[in-house]
Amino acid sequence: MASKSKERKNRKKLKCTECSTINYFTRKNVALQNRLELSKHCKKCGKHELHKETK
Ligand SMILES: [Zn+2]
Repeated sequence: MASKSKERKNRKKLKCTECSTINYFTRKNVALQNRLELSKHCKKCGKHELHKETK
């Protein structure tokens, strides 16, 4: 049970840099301190846009 709440705490959102829509969720990898920047498909833009990690 304790591990479950911990997982939720580490969850991050991936936001489209173009329209600021949150399209994806990811779990924070403690080993990776860098901010995530991924090219993902955005439903609102209808194409691949750069998504950045947000709180
Ligand atoms: Zn977008």
